[in-house]
Amino acid sequence: MTKRVYNFYAGPATLPLPVLQKAQEELLDFKGTGMSVLEISHRSKEYGETHTQASQLLRELMGIPSDYKILWLQGGASTQFFMVPLNLQVKGKPMEYVQTGAWSNKAIKEAKLYGDVKIAATSEDKKYSYIPKGVKFSENAAYAHITGNETIGGIEWHETPKTPNGVPLVCDMSSNFMDKVVDVKKFGVIYAGAQKNLGPAGVTIAIIREDLLTRVPENTPTMLKWKIHADKDSLYNTCPSFAIYICKLVLDHLKSLGGIAAIEKTNHKKAKIIYDIIDKSSGFYRGVASPESRSLMNLTFNLSTPELEEKCVAEAKKRSLIGLKGHRDVGGMRASLYNAMSLEGTQKLAEFLTEFQEQNEKTSTIVSKQL
Ligand SMILES: *Cc1c(COP(=O)(O)O)cnc(C)c1O
Repeated sequence: MTKRVYNFYAGPATLPLPVLQKAQEELLDFKGTGMSVLEISHRSKEYGETHTQASQLLRELMGIPSDYKILWLQGGASTQFFMVPLNLQVKGKPMEYVQTGAWSNKAIKEAKLYGDVKIAATSEDKKYSYIPKGVKFSENAAYAHITGNETIGGIEWHETPKTPNGVPLVCDMSSNFMDKVVDVKKFGVIYAGAQKNLGPAGVTIAIIREDLLTRVPENTPTMLKWKIHADKDSLYNTCPSFAIYICKLVLDHLKSLGGIAAIEKTNHKKAKIIYDIIDKSSGFYRGVASPESRSLMNLTFNLSTPELEEKCVAEAKKRSLIGLKGHRDVGGMRASLYNAMSLEGTQKLAEFLTEFQEQNEKTSTIVSKQL
């Protein structure tokens, strides 16, 4: 038996075991070609079917309307941070961003290279521990941008904000892509690096309403125009075919589980198990995010000292619970419960956290009695 652990890393992240097994099974001989999908042309018939099916499955599972294009790109979500302003800016109109943490700040930094950026709302006052409410965007904005889920801080938009007529909403869904049902029509552009909640590193999804493809200035480098990739069905140049193939297998798997509505239910169940432990721990575990903004995907919390956190991470590792250390910029702890994390893995984590509290509270009471 191959050793498998419970992987709570933020990204690249855990993938469904049946997907990995299927990829393993097909690795040496893809669809009877006698070649691996890693070795064949991105223009071959065999790969072409997989490429088309990946987009079809995504369209079906997310209910993406026919006037939206699905692009499979490279360069990560970080490349979309500048492709968004490059493709959507309008001379004389501000680009409006909601500032909610590390990832939105990186997006804002890139947009500023292109023109006037306005911060429509921010949660900087409370260390980005919440999603601002009642955000208003101006009527003359070129577009409005939000970060669907702040992977480092652990806060998530649970409702889609409204924008004035004619102002497209752009959302970075890298770490909450398909974690819940969303109405794609409310967005002009959705983009996401695949390596958190959809597949492996190396491919980035962009879902773009057709009318937004033509704003891009003519003298833009070809590869940076969304329109080129849309017109060529993401096959203008060599696409990241292996990564797209794995995404296709993940989409098959999600469909077999009952689609996004079913996944969303499980995600709520999983997140509740861990947040309940935090809330009932009498302050032993302290949640970072304000409760109404808590992420379903990245659950951030602290213990009383960095030393105790380190001990907790180390003991979890002995129980095959891996990747619970918080992001290096903020410290603390983080459990990423992406779609591919099982209910069983979540329960194992819950049992561990409960025991860890019992054992370490006892020690601290004994110590204080002796003093
Ligand atoms: C990880 C992440 C990114 C960066 O993705 P890359 O693919 O590494 O460029 C951007 N936004 C969010 C919300 C992320 O979680």
